[in-house]
Amino acid sequence: MNPEYMQFAISLAAKAEQEGEVPVGAVVVLDGKVIGQGWNRSITQHDATAHAEIMALRQAGKVIGNYRLLDAELYVTLEPCPMCASAMIHARIKKVYFGAPDLKTGAAGTVMNLLDYPAANHKVAYEGGVLEDECREQLQAFFRRRRAEKKAAKQAAKADDNGDPCA
Ligand SMILES: [Zn+2]
Repeated sequence: MNPEYMQFAISLAAKAEQEGEVPVGAVVVLDGKVIGQGWNRSITQHDATAHAEIMALRQAGKVIGNYRLLDAELYVTLEPCPMCASAMIHARIKKVYFGAPDLKTGAAGTVMNLLDYPAANHKVAYEGGVLEDECREQLQAFFRRRRAEKKAAKQAAKADDNGDPCA
């Protein structure tokens, strides 16, 4: 485990945030080299599958010319969802390190556990809590800001209804 890779994933999550997406970032590492980088792009790409992990896996597969990323490790700022956990199994990822747990859809032990599902043909090792505070704070700050923006927009709409520009 190398926290520098998680730091890199956090910087990719910031890119997602700049694009108006929920800030999640992921990197795929093989033999000490980053071969895949991804950040959440579902909204900008109109693609429900464009999660950070999927984007990173896609790039990594192209880089090594094989969808099977044997011995590769993946770092992601948020616990993977069921779709991403399954994609990691298909890609034969060796181990995933994640930052914050996902209390709603975490598929690496929090809500369910697909990574070492007994019947799966490949098991992905996993470790959570890597730079957890930093990862969680990035997400929470995003949702705080978004709530504040929504509230402000609502209040602005109300003021318009009143026809009073000073309201
Ligand atoms: Zn996902």
